[in-house]
Amino acid sequence: MTSWTQPWLARIPEARRKQIGLTLLIIAALLFPILHDNDADIDSMANAAAYATLALGLNIVVGFAGLLDLGYAAFFAIGAYTYGLLTSFQLEPPWSPFWEPFRQVGLVSQIAGDSGGMAVHFTLSFWIALPLAAAVAAFWGMVFGAPTLRLRGDYLAIVTLGFGEIVPIVVRNWSDLTGGAAGLNGVAAPKLFGWSFGVDATPYYYVAIAMVALLIFVSLRLRDSRIGRAWMAIREDEIAAAAMGVDRTRFKLMAFAIGAAFGGMTGVFYVAKLQTATPEMFGFPVSVMILVMIVFGGIGSVWGVVLGAFILQLLQSWWLKDLTTWLNAAGRLVHSDWLAHVDLVPSIELIFGLILVGMMLFRREGLIPATRPQAALSFDQQHAEVRRGGFKDLELEGLGGERRSGETAMAIRDVTVRFGGLVALNKVSLDVPVGSVIAVIGPNGSGKSTLFNVITGLVPAESGAITFHGDELTNLPPHEILKKGVARTFQNLRLFGNLTVLENVLIGQHARLNTGIAAAILRPRSTRDEEAEAQRWAMQIFGIFGNRLVPRIGQMVTGLSYANRRRTEIARALASRPRILLLDEPTAGMNPAETLELAEQVKSLNQLGLTVLLIEHKLDVVTTLADRVYVLDHGEIIAQGTPAEVRQDEEVLRAYLGRNAQAAAAGVAVNA
Ligand code: ADP
Ligand code: MG
Repeated sequence: MTSWTQPWLARIPEARRKQIGLTLLIIAALLFPILHDNDADIDSMANAAAYATLALGLNIVVGFAGLLDLGYAAFFAIGAYTYGLLTSFQLEPPWSPFWEPFRQVGLVSQIAGDSGGMAVHFTLSFWIALPLAAAVAAFWGMVFGAPTLRLRGDYLAIVTLGFGEIVPIVVRNWSDLTGGAAGLNGVAAPKLFGWSFGVDATPYYYVAIAMVALLIFVSLRLRDSRIGRAWMAIREDEIAAAAMGVDRTRFKLMAFAIGAAFGGMTGVFYVAKLQTATPEMFGFPVSVMILVMIVFGGIGSVWGVVLGAFILQLLQSWWLKDLTTWLNAAGRLVHSDWLAHVDLVPSIELIFGLILVGMMLFRREGLIPATRPQAALSFDQQHAEVRRGGFKDLELEGLGGERRSGETAMAIRDVTVRFGGLVALNKVSLDVPVGSVIAVIGPNGSGKSTLFNVITGLVPAESGAITFHGDELTNLPPHEILKKGVARTFQNLRLFGNLTVLENVLIGQHARLNTGIAAAILRPRSTRDEEAEAQRWAMQIFGIFGNRLVPRIGQMVTGLSYANRRRTEIARALASRPRILLLDEPTAGMNPAETLELAEQVKSLNQLGLTVLLIEHKLDVVTTLADRVYVLDHGEIIAQGTPAEVRQDEEVLRAYLGRNAQAAAAGVAVNA
């Protein structure tokens, strides 16, 4: 960009610039076939658009939800054959009265069969086939997805690779149904108000462009919704996502289904355009090519994957041929026999490979990176936010508000957890009264974090029971436990790394929001209100930490200081409107001033009526905050009482401080 354009471009607001860019893009896309009247080129563009829709579908699975799928072309095939079979001469069952109602609505017609009698000819409309094939592919997406739910990374990739291979093999061998390797016979071209598309590339081009536009819209809407956030949470940290209320099974299957639906629709389009289908069109190389397009364009980036698909597809159909011609001409010029006869087109896979390696080395995040870091607030905005905040003035309605009544909020009874031979918790019992702060202390490896894990459903209890306000929590899935009002932080920070501070805290609200797929896409008034309310609540939570987080809500959490990451994690847990907050060593890694500040904040939260269960190493924090202390050692509770009582306990001093009790007592006394 030259320097003189910068001022006037900068003067246009960003939203307006995007609008102008989008309008120009749409106009260019609509005018292309009119201005560039070359059927072969229009056809190449239509193909490129079809690959863009495939890339958008795979991007939902791989880019948003982080599930590496190497067999995506299977859904492309399923969509293709769904349409191909229902609108070709492939299947011709004998006519019977059963088909009469279908004939009346135009789904089948009657033709003369091979054996003299009448036969059925399927004539499903292209326009009905699009949603139908999407639904069929979505169904198979869930069927293929279900067995992979517990798998991640390499294992998931291998299983999906298997499914990707199975589909073309079934198609090839079930030749009665599919025509086998010879392909489908006589697929009908789409018709619009009685006019057939035929073999002219232009109508297909417009359909493909419309599909790309629709799927970009759907992808963007999903990405910026509760659903997209849940997918990205799973991608960033599955365990933390579950602990923050995301139902992993549901959202993974949803990603598989929606991704597959995009693929199924594209299959219909592709077969309609080619008017045949063969198993070779849907093999492993196709899945890999779509994946390369995504990586090239930017994993998780909606506009990026579209751009990646167009560039790589046009590279294949336009530029490689041109480049070959030029190289050959250059070869003749310099009398290089090799250069004069080289043909780049068959080396397309090699070229894809080189592009991939190049991208990994020089631009990992792709052409258009998915992460969109927002600028931090300006100084004035910060000032306004911070002044608006000031913790004591906040009414955090819907947080805590429970008065100390002597009632038990959480009761843990004889809970035992075993890892193989190791007994991490041995018949642990503990009571957390409503509105109290209960601390759990103990040496490293004594089972404190395991206690939190068993409460929040991340490890199973071998025996014993945990109840919360009378509800049984034992062995519920983590997201159900969060729904009941139990939120936690992790000792070894488990934030959603490639998301912003605000997004992390919005994900914390997942269980309290209702937006489903349809609402996310259509974004009715109720959904917009819900999102606005979610943002407002997030800002209130940030206010708790004064000006620590407010100026940084648009930044990636990976760029934050350690203490701010801890605060973000607490904010994320608070966002879920918990009735009890479980803090696992919240001040670890903080300096004394920060520790004191956080202790004050926890105390204030407790005064608002939030019940707190706290694991803490720093004894002064425990002393100032806790109403009651439980001491764990080797998975057993060895002492309990007020902080003062516990501090005097000889056994505690021996276990906890691991040295001469007398000296330790002196040390603790000084410390306190
Ligand atoms: P603390 O938080 O008190 O330091 P932990 O609860 O993390 O202790 O660990 C208690 C014991 O359980 C340790 O010996 C630890 O190695 C073991 N442990 C914790 N989680 C697991 C696990 N997922 N698999 C096997 N052993 C574990
Ligand atoms: Mg621990």
